[in-house]
Amino acid sequence: MKKEQLLEEILKVNSEFVAEKKYEKHQAEKFPKKKLAVLTCMDTRLVKLLPEALGVENGDIVVIKDAGGVVSKPYGDVVRSLLVAILELGVTGIMVIGHTDCGVQNMSGDEMIHLMTERGVSEETIQNLKYSGLNFDEWLCGFDTNEQSVRKTINALENNPLLPKDVWVEGFVMDTVTGKLTAVPKATN
Ligand SMILES: [Zn+2]
Repeated sequence: MKKEQLLEEILKVNSEFVAEKKYEKHQAEKFPKKKLAVLTCMDTRLVKLLPEALGVENGDIVVIKDAGGVVSKPYGDVVRSLLVAILELGVTGIMVIGHTDCGVQNMSGDEMIHLMTERGVSEETIQNLKYSGLNFDEWLCGFDTNEQSVRKTINALENNPLLPKDVWVEGFVMDTVTGKLTAVPKATN
């Protein structure tokens, strides 16, 4: 769909939404009632499925999304968001929710670099970034299994020195079709 057509359609729906006061049923406080933050994937299939499958409404929880629902850096945007959720908004627990058939699973640094160069990024730019310390493999890697990815993110959170130790972190994998949650045990042995 062309940008103009897409935006026109969205803005039309938006005007109607406001005019018909469809927002009224969504009104809520900014502090999450359930004191819960959910870190999950940006996958399109979870947009409505995840909140409905968790039984949450506007105002209930904080949701942080990225590709894969992972913490790839100890001091990046996800941890920043979680710190705000905990320190400013009163969150006391974090659910990390991976999902089946995740697009990030088979991603790799090399493949992403290949796609970037196909889209006009020069080899020189890539090399310069590598020399300046950017580790593409670490930053853009996928994962072998959902459980492994969730566990890695839980470890990253539990070992982050800036996150208060009294905040609980639990991991799950959601079935992308049915919304069923399966707990990911923390212990690997
Ligand atoms: Zn995903």
